[in-house]
Order: sequence, then structure tokens, then C-alpha cells
Amino acid sequence: MKQYYFDYNATCPQLPEVNLAMQEVVTSAYGNPSSLHWAGRHARRKLDDARDAMAKFLDVASSQIVLTSGGTESNNMVIQGIMSQTQTGHVVLSAIEHPAILQAAEQWAKRYAGWTYTIVKPDSDGRIDSETFISACTEDTKLACLMWANNETGVVQPVFEVSQACRERKIPLLVDAVQAIGKLDVNLKSLDADFVSFSAHKIGGPRGVGILVERRGLHLEPLLIGGGQERGRRSGTENVAGAVGFAAALGKLDYTKVTGLRNAFEEQLKAVIPDVRFFGQTHERTANTSMFCVPGLEGETLLMQMDLAGFAVASGSACSSGKRDPSHVLMAMGVPEYQSRSSLRISFGVEHTEEMNTVLIEALLKIKKRLQQMGGR
Ligand code: PLP
Repeated sequence: MKQYYFDYNATCPQLPEVNLAMQEVVTSAYGNPSSLHWAGRHARRKLDDARDAMAKFLDVASSQIVLTSGGTESNNMVIQGIMSQTQTGHVVLSAIEHPAILQAAEQWAKRYAGWTYTIVKPDSDGRIDSETFISACTEDTKLACLMWANNETGVVQPVFEVSQACRERKIPLLVDAVQAIGKLDVNLKSLDADFVSFSAHKIGGPRGVGILVERRGLHLEPLLIGGGQERGRRSGTENVAGAVGFAAALGKLDYTKVTGLRNAFEEQLKAVIPDVRFFGQTHERTANTSMFCVPGLEGETLLMQMDLAGFAVASGSACSSGKRDPSHVLMAMGVPEYQSRSSLRISFGVEHTEEMNTVLIEALLKIKKRLQQMGGR
């Protein structure tokens, strides 16, 4: 059976050039980058080169980059790092953030009784209004969090407007850019944010590797304490091969190439299933993402049937797809629960073609028909 992968927002295949670069480092640069001998110095050079390549790509200084184990850690580093600094404070976050932000803030607010948070809802098509977001900030706000692009709907958020307003009010801003890299221009010179998190595995890099870009001069209480690596910001022997793999992946995948195909897919699907509802269509979205609901069909059932037919797709975000909860993003948008539970996310890769649109739609139609014959849900 032929298999099709349409879940690039969850993760994507590691690129051959990434494999090669990592393989080389694993075999040749096995020293501990903190060791002073030749082997350590060799590994340190590889690490420094990888960090410099990331810095160049993002247009920041190498010293601003902290290596982490991925987007989850980068986000947690900021939330915990700020919330553990003072006894009291207030955080503003959007309701559509990844759980690595939403749940982290919730947990830490439980631990520190003096901390509160405000969650700002998006409009009915998944975009946060910048003025509403900013007006949720108070004198006491010590952190604001707004993602660059949403992982489920692909909707691009007003991070530029919000970053300017936060700067004027001296409120530190965390931008989760995990779904923006490879899909939008992430040159950080034009974004006035204090912290920006990235993950390697959404662009063909290795899983378990990420970075946090910090504005110069800011201090976060470190999450991991020990050997003082990463200038004391994140202890633990550095993942040299991971960093090299991340650097090798930069700029290789250009998801913007698939905008036309994604739009064509939506038009074709609408033509054959007129009551399909697409989410986020009225806003700018990342080029490869289409989230929709097929009324009357249970998303998880649809997903499983698609899987049996060889298609890897998602319902809700990948991180919560093991659970039966409806998508928190769609719920925040005010989508009725039955529609939320009927939703499916297709996220295309750069190898996407017109033929793939045809097979995907044919499969969806066939499964829809079969499920309806069996009694719908
Ligand atoms: N933030 C967003 C928007 C994501 O989509 C994801 C992963 O799906 C993460 C954070 C977590 O990143 P990682 O898997 O690298 O921990």
C-alpha cells in the first residue's frame, strides 16, 4: 500500500543533508565541548560554527542563542525563568498557545500564589486582536506570550504589533516561532521580541533539538543547573550533533512553495463536500496548513480510517492527538464542540503535488461515504 505523509506540522522527515552532517559530527567530533584537549576543542568548533550559522540565519548575535532540547524546553525556560524570579506578577497569553506555554503558566501560577495570568481569546477564525491582547496587560504584567503562527490552523498572529506595544510598555515578550520557521520570514532584526523559541524538527532537522533566542542583557533563572554550559543559561553537555543538524536544516525547506496547492486542495474539497468548514481561511495562514471539519464525521474515526488507507493526517494538535479532548484552539475560537471533534488537519510538505491532492480528496470522499453508510459517527 502506498503511504502519504500529510503531518508536517507535527514533525517532518529528517533531511539527507542533515543526516550526513550529523553523522560526520557523531563520528569525528565526539569530544566534550567543555574539555580543553584537542577532541574537546574540535567539538567546540563544530558547536560554535553551528551556533554562528543559526545566528546568521536569524540575524542575531551568536551569544543570544541558547541550545535546548526543543520548543517545549525553550518555552518552559522563559515561563519558569521569569515566574521564579519574583514572588508576584501577571502573565498575558493567548488561548491558542501550545501547551508548553499554556500549561506551564498554569502550573507555575499554581505553585506561586502571587502570580496570576490572563488568557486572551482569538476571533472566530483564529487570530488574536493585538489591541485586545495589549489591553489585557496591567502594571503588574511581567511576561506576555504570543505565538508567531498557530500549529493547528496555521493562522499568523500579530506579533509585530504586539512586540512594539510590549516594548513601549517594557513588558518582556515571548514569541513561540516553532511553526513560523520555514514558513515565514523569521529574520529577527525586524521583530522586537525578548525571547523567541524554535525547534529543529519542523524543518527537517533532528527531533529533541531547539533554541531560545534571548535579547541581550536579560536574565532568566535557569531551568537546568549544573556545569554552567550555555553561559550558565542551560547546563548539560551540549548536543553537538543536534546543533549541527539544526544548522544544516536551516533554509532547506521552503513551505511557501505549496500555497497554491494548499489553496487548490481546499477549493477541490469544497467542491465535493460543500458543507466542509475551513478554519482560519479569512486570515493569513502558513502556506502548508489546512484545518477543516467535515460535519457529521468524528475526527478521530476519520483519522484512523485515513491511517488504514495509508494517509498520515492529524486531528487537533499532534501533542494532544492521543487524548480525546477537543482542540483547545478551536474551542477558544468558539467552534462548537461537535465541529471541533469533526476536525482534521492536513499539513503539506514541500514535495506536495497536484496528484497528491487528487488521491487525498478521493480517499477522504471514499472514507466519508463508507462511514456515513455505517451510521455516520
Ligand atoms: N510550540 C509549537 C507551536 C509547536 O507546534 C510545538 C510542537 O508541535 C512546540 C512548541 C513544541 O516543540 P518541541 O516538539 O520541539 O518540543
